[in-house]
Amino acid sequence: MKKVGIVGGGIIGLCSAYYLAKEGYEVAVFDESAMEDGCSYGNAGMIVPSHIIPLAQPGMIAQGMKWMFDSQSPFYVKPRLNTDLLKWGLQFYKHANKSHVERAMPALRDLSLLSKELYQDFAKENNSFFYEEKGLLMLYRTDKVEEEMYHEGKEAERLGLEVNYLSRREVEALETGTKTDVIGGVHYKSDAHLYPQKFMKFIKEELVRLKVEVHQHTTVKDFVFEGNKIAKIGTSKGTFAVDEVVLAAGSWSPSLAKKLNIGISILPGKGYSFTLKDRSQKPSIPSILCEGKVAVTPMNNDIRFGGTMEITHTGDTKINENRLRGIVTSINDFYPDMQIEMPKAEETWFGFRPCTPSGMPIITKDKKIVNLTLATGHAMMGLSLAPATGKIVTEIIAGKTTSVDTKMFQI
Ligand SMILES: Cc1cc2nc3c(=O)[nH]c(=O)nc-3n(C[C@H](O)[C@H](O)[C@H](O)COP(=O)(O)OP(=O)(O)OC[C@H]3O[C@@H](n4cnc5c(N)ncnc54)[C@H](O)[C@@H]3O)c2cc1C
Repeated sequence: MKKVGIVGGGIIGLCSAYYLAKEGYEVAVFDESAMEDGCSYGNAGMIVPSHIIPLAQPGMIAQGMKWMFDSQSPFYVKPRLNTDLLKWGLQFYKHANKSHVERAMPALRDLSLLSKELYQDFAKENNSFFYEEKGLLMLYRTDKVEEEMYHEGKEAERLGLEVNYLSRREVEALETGTKTDVIGGVHYKSDAHLYPQKFMKFIKEELVRLKVEVHQHTTVKDFVFEGNKIAKIGTSKGTFAVDEVVLAAGSWSPSLAKKLNIGISILPGKGYSFTLKDRSQKPSIPSILCEGKVAVTPMNNDIRFGGTMEITHTGDTKINENRLRGIVTSINDFYPDMQIEMPKAEETWFGFRPCTPSGMPIITKDKKIVNLTLATGHAMMGLSLAPATGKIVTEIIAGKTTSVDTKMFQI
């Protein structure tokens, strides 16, 4: 039986382990953390076929420049004299055009819809992670954003998604959990959501059942080569012989790729979330508060708010109070009856979204190292795209035709 070593035990690594083990591979996952609080745990839990437009899009550079001078803005690039940042910025600029977006949209849609089907299968087995299909409401308070949302909705409809355009009254009729102060909303019926921590618990239990070895607190340090193949993974707890390797180390993938002599451009997009427990009055439909780019997700009895995207480095673990305040202000503007307080630092979670400059995930076999598959760079959609990524990784390693076309996911 072929042995696969997976570097990184976030949602991408664990979903890859699941489908590989089901295909009959012997799988070991290595993660340097305790695997209980990283980017795959505190995120907003949205499964978003609606998100077909990548971050690299026309207009994003101009918008980003404006936001850079606003301390509470939802998007920010931390200025640094650093070659990785300069290369990333240049690549982002190259991709922020219409033709890239046109090619990206169907690829993201297909990957997302496949993922949603796979989540439905998981939920049928045991919905311990509160998977629900209520769609996603894009709420707005200004005419400018209404126009943008209308345009995005039409693009999504063109690609076959079901979209409803709602007046202020229609939003109020749909969102009965709390009062909304908006001028309207766009409802994507395609979207779903779940409780990320509970899904991670579920998938880990599945991996135990499938006899996958999960090595926590085990840092991957280097790789031993035999010709153009990785023969062993060197870790803080010894070396492990492998037949195949999957690199799924999220925002840390570039430094590991360097050890493999591969250049991958990924920078961490730091974001925050906080979760209010057992609130009786709360929004009932997952929503994005568009002007502030705040994600709002009901998760069983709890409600989670998430937002901000600071392109930074993995050493930047400070919580920026101004940006957190930006999230809180948006919530109180959109939901006037909620009136929530600034969360304390210890109640605030942060995570690093692994952001590629093209806004596309990387899911591909490496061109030079014959037994290496890359599965990383899922940015703000890693939870959404994880089951489909795991399935495709398995198909790539098994030499099968992939379930969706992967040419947009190559480097
Ligand atoms: C505020 C916020 C909200 C979000 N909301 C959503 C959402 O609603 N929907 C959605 O789809 N996505 C969302 N995301 C994005 C999503 O969380 C990420 O895309 C996803 O978690 C990335 O998963 P990953 O497995 O690639 O990386 P990670 O979860 O970061 O996992 C990588 C793992 O690699 C390990 N590692 C690193 N270096 C080493 C090493 N040398 N040796 C061993 N292990 C190593 C790390 O410890 C880590 O556990 C959100 C993110 C944020 C921050």
